[in-house]
Amino acid sequence: MDPVPDTSWPRPRTPRISARASYAAHAVLARNGVYRALASFVERHPGLERAFTRGERVSKEQLFGCRMCGQCALPATGYACPQTCPKQLRNGPCGGVSPEGRCEVHPEMTCVWVTAHERAEASGHGEDLDRLQRPLDHRRWGQSSWLDHWQGRDADLWTAPREDRPLLRRELGLTPR
Ligand code: SF4
Repeated sequence: MDPVPDTSWPRPRTPRISARASYAAHAVLARNGVYRALASFVERHPGLERAFTRGERVSKEQLFGCRMCGQCALPATGYACPQTCPKQLRNGPCGGVSPEGRCEVHPEMTCVWVTAHERAEASGHGEDLDRLQRPLDHRRWGQSSWLDHWQGRDADLWTAPREDRPLLRRELGLTPR
């Protein structure tokens, strides 16, 4: 494995690809037998796995500001990367986000989690933000999350949606789903 995590201090990133295009791409790349066989083949060849992982890093870094945490949360966060949050919160936003949705650490930037909610809601995936992201396994930094996805090793990254959340949202006057 060729660990290539971005160790610089994270800054909020607005994705360069729309949420709808991201969900569409995910559907095309959804786990199936062909992709699973491809992942198995790649993982049996270390040089090929390094090249594949590097390709994932470069493409996701450009599109989402990916830092290669190895446990990709994008499908459940409106395709806004939570690892670009300066506090690297997997469940956000923090208490410091401004009323205007600005980041506490970088007030000139929009909070990653505000971006996530807006993109998910606008794409009909708002219920994804009701899920709890489980803690990161930091031993997996630098690994390919695409290979993990195709191999079915990412099934427990987040919880199922909470059934009581829509009621809570209605009580708070938020848009029910
Ligand atoms: S959640 Fe992890 S793998 Fe996914 S884009 Fe962010 S840093 Fe990359």
